Amino acid sequence: MSAPSSSSPVVRFAPSPTGRIHIGNVRTAVLNWLFARREGGTLILRFDDTDTERARAEFAEAITTDLTWLGLTWDRIARQSERTELYDRAAETLKRDGRLYPCYETPEEIERRRRLQRARGLPPIYDRASLKLTDAEREAMEREGRVPHWRFRLNNSGDDPAGQPESTPIAWDDLIRGHQTVDLGALSDPVMIRADGSYLYTFTSVVDDADMGVTHIIRGEDHVTNTGVQLQLFEALGADAPQFAHHSLLVGAEGQALSKRLGDLAIAALRDEGLEPQAVTSHAALVGTSDAIEPVMNPDDLAARFAFEKISRSPARFDQRELAQLNARLLQALDFESVQERLTDLGIAGGAPFWRAVRGNIGVLRDAQAWWTVVSQPLTPDIEDAAFCTRAAELLPDGPVTDETWGEWTRIIKAETGAKGKALFMPLRKALTAQTRGPELQPLLPFMGRERIVGRLSGETV
Ligand code: GLU
Repeated sequence: MSAPSSSSPVVRFAPSPTGRIHIGNVRTAVLNWLFARREGGTLILRFDDTDTERARAEFAEAITTDLTWLGLTWDRIARQSERTELYDRAAETLKRDGRLYPCYETPEEIERRRRLQRARGLPPIYDRASLKLTDAEREAMEREGRVPHWRFRLNNSGDDPAGQPESTPIAWDDLIRGHQTVDLGALSDPVMIRADGSYLYTFTSVVDDADMGVTHIIRGEDHVTNTGVQLQLFEALGADAPQFAHHSLLVGAEGQALSKRLGDLAIAALRDEGLEPQAVTSHAALVGTSDAIEPVMNPDDLAARFAFEKISRSPARFDQRELAQLNARLLQALDFESVQERLTDLGIAGGAPFWRAVRGNIGVLRDAQAWWTVVSQPLTPDIEDAAFCTRAAELLPDGPVTDETWGEWTRIIKAETGAKGKALFMPLRKALTAQTRGPELQPLLPFMGRERIVGRLSGETV
């Protein structure tokens, strides 16, 4: 195993390509990315794709697309499916050392034993029966045609065949959760190699982390129990264990699990909805931390805020409305240059003045199109008070409609009709936009032009 080549941190984001990524796993990705960025470290995108039944190259591709859209960057990509030789070598070492041992039980036999243990009030822990087989018994099993799977022999006190396993705590200082212990006495020796020769995640992950010199493992707290086992694997492989940081999992706004909604919380779905990637990364970086959730455009600014101490241990609440609001706030802060091309693609020709007029009133960028339609296409006005609207049309100042027009015009209407506040503005808004809410009318008027303004006030569909 090679040691880390320098003292700068090495982290990895290790998705299993069995589906698209969603807002929950993106949080893990973003935290790794920001930590690496902050520390000048290395981020490896590692596809944990040894599960040949479920892992798919298309999903790995799609995950890469999603992460790229989010603006994440990494130093290299690794695929576990291409690293089998490394795992074979590590497995040989552990077999030689007696830490991996062949087991011959069928799933039915295991299940039967578990039932018996439960009936006797014992925890359903694997009894290491296969470990106690003599060479002759093993040979007999193999002659019978049984192909073994391999378990990792945990270093715990469960060796006494008749005895109830004693508690065997293994501890580490988690960078987010603080001091942690996992009781290995309460665990079965975990299977590392299936009968078909394929490796399980726990094993390949540790072999890779050791080989890649990973210094920090930042992942969800659903892996806390794994960590107990993995610490022993690092030790068995003669490798230094990295530091661990287990973040809490995202839950819905009411505390419910998100698992049922992962489809609509997939990154691809959020992108299709029109959310800005920086809104998603800002949210992922700041949710469940002591910092306020706000839009941060620049990854370095986001990285500068990263600190393990800020990440809360309690479940992080994911509220879709909060993400929507964050997106709206982000749009308000975007200058015209950064959105120019996309506006042009939407057929919006209003330039910077139009963008500045509408950016505060849209949820997603493409909503700007609806406002462009309002100013540039015919609409049927909503006339509340025909007499008032006709009078307002007559009072529209002569000459070209400019940014100054609105102020001058409304002053005159007020002076001439006595209307003010909502009674003045609402009939105009409804006549000119056919809506009761929206951007300030002042910067929109020049885009409508005189004919349209006068026509709409007269009830015409123009
Ligand atoms: N492939 C694992 C997962 O997606 C990686 C866990 C880890 O980071 O070790 O849960």
